[in-house]
Amino acid sequence: MPLYEYLCPGCKLKFELLRKASESDEMACCPRCQNSAGRVPSTFASFSKDAGGVTTSIGGSACSGCDAGSCQSCNH
Ligand SMILES: [Zn+2]
Repeated sequence: MPLYEYLCPGCKLKFELLRKASESDEMACCPRCQNSAGRVPSTFASFSKDAGGVTTSIGGSACSGCDAGSCQSCNH
C-alpha cells in the first residue's frame, strides 16, 4: 500500500498513513487530536504558511537541515 501524508488543520500535525489508493482522498483521523485531516498533495503546497505569510511550526517535521520553516526551499 502506498504511503500518504496528511495534515491536521487543528493541531498542524503532519502524519503519514498507509492506505489503499482508492482511499487516499478520504479524510484521515489525526492521531493527536482526532480531527479530520486532509491529504497533503505530493507537491508540497504552502501548508506551513498562513495567509499572512508567517511560517508556522509543524511539530518537528520542519526541515532540520536549514533555517527554512518548511522544506520548500531546500531538498532536505
Ligand atoms: Zn490534530
